[in-house]
Amino acid sequence: MEKLSQRDKKHLWHPLTQHKMHPNMLAIARAEGAFLYDEDGKEYIDGISSWYTCMYGHCHPYILGKVMDQMQRLDQVVFSGFTHEPAVRLSEELIKILPGNQEKMFFSDNGSTATEIGIKMALQYHFNRGEKRNVLLAFEEGFHGDTFGAMSVSGLSVYNGPFEEFFIEVERIPVPTSENIDGIVEQLKKRLKNNDLAGFIYEPLVQGAAAMKMHDADGLEQILALLKEHQVLTIADEVMTGFGKTGKFFASDYLSTKPDIMCLSKALTAGLVPMGLTTCTEEVYGAFYSDDIAKGLFHGHTYTANPLACTAALSALELLQTDQVQENISNIVRWHQEFNEEVKNHPKVAGTRQLGVIYALDLNVKMERYGNLRDRLFKHFMDSGVFLRPLGNTIYILAPFIISKEQMEKIYDAIRSAIESI
Ligand SMILES: *Cc1c(COP(=O)(O)O)cnc(C)c1O
Repeated sequence: MEKLSQRDKKHLWHPLTQHKMHPNMLAIARAEGAFLYDEDGKEYIDGISSWYTCMYGHCHPYILGKVMDQMQRLDQVVFSGFTHEPAVRLSEELIKILPGNQEKMFFSDNGSTATEIGIKMALQYHFNRGEKRNVLLAFEEGFHGDTFGAMSVSGLSVYNGPFEEFFIEVERIPVPTSENIDGIVEQLKKRLKNNDLAGFIYEPLVQGAAAMKMHDADGLEQILALLKEHQVLTIADEVMTGFGKTGKFFASDYLSTKPDIMCLSKALTAGLVPMGLTTCTEEVYGAFYSDDIAKGLFHGHTYTANPLACTAALSALELLQTDQVQENISNIVRWHQEFNEEVKNHPKVAGTRQLGVIYALDLNVKMERYGNLRDRLFKHFMDSGVFLRPLGNTIYILAPFIISKEQMEKIYDAIRSAIESI
């Protein structure tokens, strides 16, 4: 039998891939804890938790056990007109940790649908109230997903370039710094006079796809407070930042101005099955609650609130709140700080940043996002048995919460040798 990586080439089309330039996929045969194993048995530490989903490690026995139990009771049922225990319980558990103003939860399948629904909620909120507000506000380098609304509000890049003509109306502002914030606020005040801004979508404090760029909580706070005064709905896209990665349950917990709408996915279901979630305040929900059927949110996906996904999410929430996971989060924060002290002044390091367990380091070299040097760096990590996925010249670590010191040292070692050899 041919190897999987060969058989793959016949029919499969992979995401975010130019197949002519990158024809070879690595076949992963199994995964456990912090490790991935390829079809030849070579092991790799999953240094980015498979796009920040598997935060409790792969194939966690507690989550698997709960989901297997659920599977034998109820696999799937329509969520329009029906409900079930995993969804009800998940809503009860989530409400305990979400920002205090969140009240209602709308399920979907992934991060893009979570933001897409957040955008639709914001647009229809104003429509239902009889106000014409058709413009969305977003950060210049944000990433919110690959469906049309989500693409429209993302920063312009190779991801969404060909579709720009078809975008919904969006205006972009830079992320706040202590230097530019007064200018941003000044501009926004003028801009708000038109009364046509429906909502502002933002990744709070850390922009994942923009290479873990971090911005200032004070500046964001000022922007959010100003927009709220003018009834512009604030949509926190916490698809990446949610569930403990920033050192708090949500990045929004660092801000005193709470979002009107929140988008969640990725670590929500711990990497076991896909699910998205859009939450909102009673005030937002109230604009849809009516004797007029047309004011409802007529959006729905077939697998909405799939019982297995809800069960995975419930089990993940339990694990997140155990002392063991919380302690190891503190450990990872400290290990990163120590590693940072060692490398931050290295001549080949242009800058470093950290929030919670998210650590990023920029190399002092020019590098294209999908260029040759980036590919060599990626290969260096994989050869070292570490799965890290550099974004241009940025190397970032977002390892599972359960990673050991020894495993983390292996990641640091691979970065140390990358810095030396670059
Ligand atoms: C990954 C991501 C998305 C899109 O989620 P998908 O599940 O890949 O569609 C949206 N927003 C942010 C901040 C993300 O990191």
